Amino acid sequence: MIHSFDTSLEYAQAQDQMDVLHSFRERFLFPQHQNKNVVYFCGNSLGLQSTAVQYLMNSELADWAKFGVEGHFEAKNPWLSYHQQFADSLAKIVGAHKEEVVAMNTLTVNLHLLLLSFYRPQNGRYKILMEAGAFPSDQYAIETQVRMYGYDPNDAIIEISPREGAHIIEEEDILKAIDDAGDSLAVLLMGGVNYYTGQLFDMKIITQAAHKVGAYCGFDLAHAVGNVPLALHDWDVDFACWCSYKYLNSGPGGVGGAYVHEKHGNNPETFRLAGWWGNDEKTRFKMQKGFVPAKGAASWQMSNAPVFNMVAHRASLDLFDKATVPALREKSLRMTAYLAFLLQQLNNLSFTIITPSHPERRGAQLSLLFAEKGKEVFSALTNNGVIADWREPNVIRIAPVPMYNNFEDCHRFYEILKSL
Ligand SMILES: *Cc1c(COP(=O)(O)O)cnc(C)c1O
Repeated sequence: MIHSFDTSLEYAQAQDQMDVLHSFRERFLFPQHQNKNVVYFCGNSLGLQSTAVQYLMNSELADWAKFGVEGHFEAKNPWLSYHQQFADSLAKIVGAHKEEVVAMNTLTVNLHLLLLSFYRPQNGRYKILMEAGAFPSDQYAIETQVRMYGYDPNDAIIEISPREGAHIIEEEDILKAIDDAGDSLAVLLMGGVNYYTGQLFDMKIITQAAHKVGAYCGFDLAHAVGNVPLALHDWDVDFACWCSYKYLNSGPGGVGGAYVHEKHGNNPETFRLAGWWGNDEKTRFKMQKGFVPAKGAASWQMSNAPVFNMVAHRASLDLFDKATVPALREKSLRMTAYLAFLLQQLNNLSFTIITPSHPERRGAQLSLLFAEKGKEVFSALTNNGVIADWREPNVIRIAPVPMYNNFEDCHRFYEILKSL
C-alpha cells in the first residue's frame, strides 16, 4: 500500500468525501464541546451510542409494560429467544462458525468461565503464559485461577516482556517462551491487541506454537474485536472472550462475548459450569436433574438473557452487519496511517509512537509516549474538545475508529497539537 498523504484540510475533506462508510458517522451521538462534536478518539475505551439505541430501548420497555411475563413470547423480539439474535453477527466479526460464539455475561466473568474449562492443570502441565503488563483484570483472573489449584503464581505464570528499552513484544520471544515451557505449559492467554501499546499479535502463529507443545490457546479480544479482522476458527484458536463496549459500541458494562472452537464446544466431555440456559433446549423446561449441554458455545450460558443490556448490542451489530469488517479495516488502515503521518510532521512536542509502525501489526489505536509534559498536553487536548485516554505514567492513547471517525477528526487533532 502506497499512500501520499498531505497536511492540508482539503486533503482530509477529500478523503471523507470518497469514504464509502461516511454515512455511518451520522448514526452516532457525539459529546459536544462549544456546540461542536468533540474529536472522539476514545472508542477503544467506550464506543459511542448509536441513534437507534434509545428507540429500541423504549420499545423493550413498552413491551414489558404491555405484556409483563407474556413478553417472553409476545414482545417484538421475544425474550425467550432473545439471546439467539447475536451469533450470526458475532461469528462474522470474530471469524467463527455460528455455533462457536455466544453473547453473555461480561469479559472477566467469561475469562474465568473459559479458564475453568481450559485450565485444568495436572501431571506437571500447570503453567499459563501471558504478556507482561496485561490489563489488570486479566492478571487478577489468572493469578486467582492458579491459586485455586494450589500453585504459586510466581512459578505457574510465565510473563513475556518487551526486550530491554523496547515497548512492543517480539513475536520470536513469545514462540521461544512457548518452546521453553514445553509440556509444562497448560494454557497460553494473551490479548489479541495489547491495550496499552496497541500491538496486534499474530494469533495464528501463536496458536500453532501453543498447540505444538500440547497447550490450549486463548485470547482476550477486548481491543481486537470490532477493530481488526479475526479468523478464530481457521486459526484453530481454542477459546476467546471480549467485551462489547469498546469498538463494538454496545454501552457501558454491555454484554460480553465468548468463542469456543467447535471441537470443544460440541464435545459433551468438555467441562463447563452449567446453568439452565446452557442446557439443550429440548429438555431445558423439563426441570429435571442431569445437565445436557446444548451444541457449541451456547452451552456456556448460565442465565436467561439480560435483555436491557443486550439492546444496544443488537443495535450496534446491525451497523457492523451493514458496514462489514473488511470495509472497516480498509478505512482503518488508511486513517490510522494518515494520523501517524500527521503526528510525524509535528516537531513542537517530544513524544514517540510506541504502537508498531507496520499497519498490519496494529489496529486503530496509536499510543503516544511523552518524554515530558504528557499530562499538560492531555489537559490541553481536553480543553480543546478532544476526548482521548490517559495512561500512567505518560501515555496518551488515541483511536480513530473507522465506524464513526473521519479524516477531518484526525486533521483537527493535528491542528490542536500543532498549536500547543
Ligand atoms: C477492557 C478490558 C477488560 C475489562 O473487563 P470487564 O470484565 O469488561 O470489566 C478486561 N481485559 C482487557 C484486556 C480489557 O481491555
